[in-house]
Amino acid sequence: MDMENLQTHIRALAMLPATDAPVVSCFVALENRRLKAPNLFDEQIRAVRTGLAGEMRRALEEALQPVQAFLHHGLSSDAKGAAIFSRAGKEPFLMTIQCRVPLPNWTVVDRTPNIYHLVELKDTYEQYVVMLATKESVRIIEMNLGAVTRHLSAEMPELRQGTGRKCSKEHYQKHLNERGHRFVKEQIRILEQVMAAREHTHLILAGHPAMTARVRGELPPGLLSRLVDVVRASDAGVVAATIDAFIKAEEKESQTIAEKLVQQVRSGGLAVAGTAASFEALQRNQADMLVLLKTYAPGEIWVCQACGFMDPEAGRLAACPECGSGELACVDAKEQMVRFAERQLCAVEVVNESESLERMGGVGCLLRYRLAHEYRCERASIPVSTAT
Ligand SMILES: [Zn+2]
Repeated sequence: MDMENLQTHIRALAMLPATDAPVVSCFVALENRRLKAPNLFDEQIRAVRTGLAGEMRRALEEALQPVQAFLHHGLSSDAKGAAIFSRAGKEPFLMTIQCRVPLPNWTVVDRTPNIYHLVELKDTYEQYVVMLATKESVRIIEMNLGAVTRHLSAEMPELRQGTGRKCSKEHYQKHLNERGHRFVKEQIRILEQVMAAREHTHLILAGHPAMTARVRGELPPGLLSRLVDVVRASDAGVVAATIDAFIKAEEKESQTIAEKLVQQVRSGGLAVAGTAASFEALQRNQADMLVLLKTYAPGEIWVCQACGFMDPEAGRLAACPECGSGELACVDAKEQMVRFAERQLCAVEVVNESESLERMGGVGCLLRYRLAHEYRCERASIPVSTAT
């Protein structure tokens, strides 16, 4: 599973229309082709069965069969996490996802697939490029969801000695430096091409400190602005070392986005905060980015199945105030927000920690535009200057 596929899968899940049959969303951590916490999984399955009877219970049992079958026979040896979405009934649905990074152990039954954990996964492990520079070679590695997807490698050119005439030690050193310099320059040119071709936005330099310093010194401004970290790593440890560095850099970026959101809200700029305002922005297709705390837990919300109208604050309404439909359903608000965002191709940023975002309700949206009436009160307070 690479990032592009993950995005396609998330979107397909977000677009899946609800039916009467329940959807099982099952996330598991894996180890050696087995569940890492089998007892916890059994407990979660027992919990989702609780309270379901009759047709719903039958539909759930039918949906659980392919989940169990996949966990017994479908796991690949290098997978560390899996997500399975299954529905029985008149419009059966099954999607299985495996990845080389762990997923939390979590199973839920709902009317639609629960995609938040996949969205968090996508946000945490964006793709990035590593340039691994050691004294012997330079490798350009593309990383995708915790796995190497492709790499290019070049050996440091051997310096031929004894080609007829004897070099002085100084001359030999100069020659070595020049060749090394040309080699590094050439590798950076290749790196530039790779990053441009695949639209990579994050670069990590890894390897021997003397070599990474040398490469860094030669990076053109375009690549320097995409450099997120420089780490000491060996060929064998490069994946683990850069994943850690990348996750740290990603969290720093998240914090910056959260700060920007808070600042924009405080200054009446292009942002809103809080559950109700964020829902409204998503409903109006006004949101450019949904920003939420990992711990954000708004609970459930009533949604009109006919027109999508949502009311996070009111209790159960008899009919939708927008379209009059009586088809109102209670859904998980966080899931609904994320689903809305993914349907609109609106970016989602998950923030691990931010006190100021927490004070604003743990959620907000950066907006693409504001509606005219939202400007009115702000404009009124601006003194009109008269030209003389
Ligand atoms: Zn409605």
